Amino acid sequence: MARGRKQKDPFVCPRCGTRVTEPVKTWTLVSPFPDKKGRITVTIMGSFKCPNCGYTWRAVIKKIKTEAAPPAEEGGGEPREGEVIEIDLDDLDKLE
Ligand SMILES: [Zn+2]
Repeated sequence: MARGRKQKDPFVCPRCGTRVTEPVKTWTLVSPFPDKKGRITVTIMGSFKCPNCGYTWRAVIKKIKTEAAPPAEEGGGEPREGEVIEIDLDDLDKLE
């Protein structure tokens, strides 16, 4: 945590320091797994182009923590706890 005390502004060109008004393109990255509290982190990424020097870069614009979506309700079936594959050793013997 020693480095990067100054908050980096994603809108400022890392090469010449010009501040752009808006990203060329934005997209979101959704973390595939929830954190310990069951929340999903959604990261908004942006692609920028400097109007002054032409440099292009990508930066994180914002990170949002959202509540995880509730589990889909599908007929109230029992939750699956992984498939168990039972192998009968006697059957294996017969195959050989
Ligand atoms: Zn620039």
